[in-house]
Amino acid sequence: MNQTSSAQSDSTAVATPTFAVLQLSGCSGCEVSLLNADVWASQQELVYMPLVLSAEDLPPVDTLLVSGAVYSDDDLHRLQQTAHRARRVVAVGTCALSGGVANLGNRESARRVFLDDTSRRHLPRLLPQLRPVDAVVSVDLYLPGCPPTPRLFEAALKLGEPFEPAKTVCQDCGRIKTRDRPDRLARHSGVAIDPEVCLINQGYLCIGSSTRGGCGAPCTRAGHPCVGCRGPSNGFISRSADEWFAAIKRVFERMTAISREQIDAELRSPGLSLFVFQFADYAGAPRDIEKVL
Ligand code: SF4
Ligand code: SF4
Repeated sequence: MNQTSSAQSDSTAVATPTFAVLQLSGCSGCEVSLLNADVWASQQELVYMPLVLSAEDLPPVDTLLVSGAVYSDDDLHRLQQTAHRARRVVAVGTCALSGGVANLGNRESARRVFLDDTSRRHLPRLLPQLRPVDAVVSVDLYLPGCPPTPRLFEAALKLGEPFEPAKTVCQDCGRIKTRDRPDRLARHSGVAIDPEVCLINQGYLCIGSSTRGGCGAPCTRAGHPCVGCRGPSNGFISRSADEWFAAIKRVFERMTAISREQIDAELRSPGLSLFVFQFADYAGAPRDIEKVL
């Protein structure tokens, strides 16, 4: 390359986009998933992420990924101090969108146990109620999942091929729905799972039909019912938790002969209620569907 063309290429060089990860109250699962996405390492520069890369102060960045919920005054302070330094804020994972695992602390009994333990010291002061990230700062993109898969992180960072998530987990799953209507729940039955047939037809309460796709259905493909960690599909985003609950129940009543009481109790069990009904409860106002990946 001659000197002229070298100078031209230097003057037109495009700066590598930068991103940072702000971790609020959560479990770190999102960060592990992000580290498993390998494309960003060559296409974007990570400038800050607790446990991986420290910095005295968060510099201005193109994209700020915020994981975890706003649970303590420390979370609130760090979010308010950093969000304005980013051109784009992405709320990542179920905790950031609807409380997720940290939401358990919102239950009165859990808070009482936690706060009554007088031997604890140096705790951040807990806020009266845990809030999602968009209750504090405006969010440009929502990335639900617990955690979002590496492919979803790449899509949020606009890496790789254009990505359009499937509308529901059922579309990702590929299991075939049959006319079999099981009359009892199959969990703990020990019966081998047919790898081709829908889990509902085999007696599992899978809520993939109303959960947004894009994860690739890793759970259902492996034989575990979807518990809805990606949150509601577009049709349910702005509906109330009760409407979503009723729609899920209708699917199970249509596809199985299991009693209404059993379905109701199962849906309210900790395993399913952890994700399914938080999302609607925590979105203060309906979220813009166009902003949800
Ligand atoms: S197993 Fe779940 S995700 Fe798969 S087709 Fe059935 S309901 Fe849908
Ligand atoms: S299959 Fe359901 S529970 Fe599993 S990752 Fe996808 S949305 Fe989450």
